[in-house]
Amino acid sequence: MDLPVCHLVHWDDIDRWADALAGKISAAGRSPETIVGLTRGGWVPSRLLADRLGVKHLAALRAQHWGVTATQTGKAEITEKLTSPVDGRSVLVVDDITDTGESLRLAVEHVRATGPRQVESAAFLHITHSKYVPTYYAEEVPKERWAWFIFPWNYWEDIRTLSAKALPEGKDSAGVRQLLLEQAKIAVPEADVRQALAPPANRS
Ligand code: AMP
Repeated sequence: MDLPVCHLVHWDDIDRWADALAGKISAAGRSPETIVGLTRGGWVPSRLLADRLGVKHLAALRAQHWGVTATQTGKAEITEKLTSPVDGRSVLVVDDITDTGESLRLAVEHVRATGPRQVESAAFLHITHSKYVPTYYAEEVPKERWAWFIFPWNYWEDIRTLSAKALPEGKDSAGVRQLLLEQAKIAVPEADVRQALAPPANRS
């Protein structure tokens, strides 16, 4: 059993990336009329950017590519359409990270086909092997430093998946915690591992 190398993202990283991204968009002279957040990773980044850029109109779109933590499900596809029309508007499509870049590329194409005046894209993190490069990104991650980024909005989902994967070898919460440290390179409190391994009905 091999766990992917992970990186725990904290809220101050998120704040820094949101500031950096909003700064780049403003410096480019852009003020989008609508922000489209990709479900689910792009929701919090979209809301934070909307606040910083003073955008009142938010929409959602679901592009799916990755299933459970660090496992690709195959080809990206739009599984939930745009929640509100954007024809004639200037639109910014937002996601948390471009890894293969397939989700954002597909989402931008989908939005463009609905007739907006202009479409640009943004992501907090951009991994250099991504085939699609967002118009704006806060930080570039060299492909040699690929990791599974555990964003605060995905913390429990990721810790649950990783802990369940490590359990047969780790045997108990202390063993799982140790495997998370050695293989995934993340220090997770044992209480969180215990909570992640508890059946839903027993979670506090
Ligand atoms: P992709 O289409 O490969 O660019 O990625 C689609 C979505 O999967 C992203 O918006 C993230 O929510 C998630 N994802 C992909 N790669 C990573 C990663 N290395 N770390 C955390 N989340 C990821």
